[in-house]
Order: sequence, then C-alpha cells, then structure tokens
Amino acid sequence: MITMVKTSPNAAPSKQQSQILVPTDTEGVEILEGMQVFGEDHAPRGHMHIRFNNVRVPKENILLGEGRGFEISQVRLGPGRIHHCMRSIGKAEKALELMVKRSGTRVAFGKPIAKLGKNIEVISRARIEINAMRLAVLQAAKAMDVLGNKEARVYVSAVKAMVPEKVCDIIDAAIQMHGATGISQWTPLATMYTDMRHLRFADGPDEVHHMVVGRAELQKYDLW
Ligand SMILES: Cc1cc2nc3c(=O)[nH]c(=O)nc-3n(C[C@H](O)[C@H](O)[C@H](O)COP(=O)(O)OP(=O)(O)OC[C@H]3O[C@@H](n4cnc5c(N)ncnc54)[C@H](O)[C@@H]3O)c2cc1C
Repeated sequence: MITMVKTSPNAAPSKQQSQILVPTDTEGVEILEGMQVFGEDHAPRGHMHIRFNNVRVPKENILLGEGRGFEISQVRLGPGRIHHCMRSIGKAEKALELMVKRSGTRVAFGKPIAKLGKNIEVISRARIEINAMRLAVLQAAKAMDVLGNKEARVYVSAVKAMVPEKVCDIIDAAIQMHGATGISQWTPLATMYTDMRHLRFADGPDEVHHMVVGRAELQKYDLW
C-alpha cells in the first residue's frame, strides 16, 4: 500500500509529506477492520482501518523523494477531481430524467405531481444547475489544458466544492418526487445519493475547496 506520511515537519507546508510504499505483510502493519460507507461493507476493495506499530521499510520505498508526497498527489488530484465532477453531472442528468418521468406520470390529488406545489420549479432549478455545473466544469477543464494543473487549481476547487453538493440536492429532490419508491430498490436513486454524498469528502471536503476559492478572491485585493 502507499502511505502519505509527514516526514519533514520543518519544510515549507507543501514539502512536508512523503509517500512511502509499505507492503501489507510488513511487521507492525495491523489491519483492524474494513470501514463501512453508509452501512455498506466495501470490503475487500474498500477502505481499511489500519494501525502502524513502529513499521520500518527500506528508505528506497519512499516515492519520488522526501517531501514530494504532495507533489505526487497533486498530479492525480486535479484530473481526479474534475473527473469526479464529470461523472457526477451524468448522475444529475439521470436523476432529473427520473424525476421528470415520475412527476409527469404519477397522479396525486387529481394531478400529475409535476403540477403540484412548486415541483415545476424544482425541475427547472435542476436543469439550470446542471447546465451551470457543466459549463463550470468545462471552464476548469480548459484552465487545466491552457494553464496547467497548478494554475487551474482554483477552477478545479470551485467545481469540486459546487458539483457534489448540488448533485446531492438534485438526487434528493428526485427521491422526494418519487415518494417512498425513491428510497427503495425500484430506482437507482438511493445508491446514487449515498455514492454522491461520499464525494463531498473524497478528494477534499467541500470546506477545504471553498477555502481555496475564497482565499483566491481575498488575494485579488491583497487581503490574504
Ligand atoms: C468512501 C470514501 C472514499 C474516499 N476516498 C478518498 C480518496 O480516494 N482520496 C482522497 O484524497 N480522499 C478520499 N476520501 C476523503 C478522506 O478519506 C477524508 O475523509 C477527507 O480528507 C477529510 O478528512 P477527515 O475525514 O479526516 O475529516 P477532517 O479532516 O476531520 O474534517 C472534518 C470536517 O471538518 C471540516 N473542515 C476540515 N477542514 C476544514 C477547513 N479547512 N475549513 C473549514 N472546515 C473544515 C469539514 O466539514 C470536514 O468535513 C474518501 C472518503 C470516503 C468517505
């Protein structure tokens, strides 16, 4: 397994971590349990709770060099984050399609659900937000192509902060429009929701990405 470890606490913040290869059969590696996600057992492909008891590996196991762990992560995280957003928009489209079809055909109080309350606005907002997300992701992808991963990081953080949260909201609205069916096995919405909810943590919680975007705004006026 690859571990991310703080090896150089006195270096600049982005040079403090190293990535180190640790074979799982190394003495001192203790696999405690597989972690569940929303009550689902993700083992064996999933996420392990691991304790390291004075584990030692040869210094050649350090990847790329001491203090370069963050650099390795950044190469993967930029494209990884934008890829998460692209897939998430696909899920939002699916949720909207299901919401429209259900609300246009299911009748309650003598009308299709789409015509009750402010459900038409819920559908409209989902469409508007999907279109906005798609354009923002396109902008971030272009920034990565033109400026490179490092310079594009604010654009990438912006979409990573926005898309999983908004897509969770859209899937949640689709669930609500389906009634109890929405959380049953008759639609993929429940699975889509839990999968999407974990993306608000994976590759950085929303708040950390908002910190990147907010800080960049303050820096424009020399206020950070
Ligand atoms: C199923 C799953 C898969 C994952 N896969 C990956 C992966 O492949 N790669 C990856 O990088 N991460 C991944 N993660 C995310 C990672 O494991 C951590 O959950 C994430 O980095 C947050 O760390 P933490 O859980 O220790 O929360 P903490 O660091 O304890 O943070 C807890 C909360 O504090 C708040 N917070 C933290 N920092 C700030 C801040 N600067 N400003 C304001 N509020 C803040 C946020 O609300 C945050 O949710 C995954 C998570 C899950 C659940």
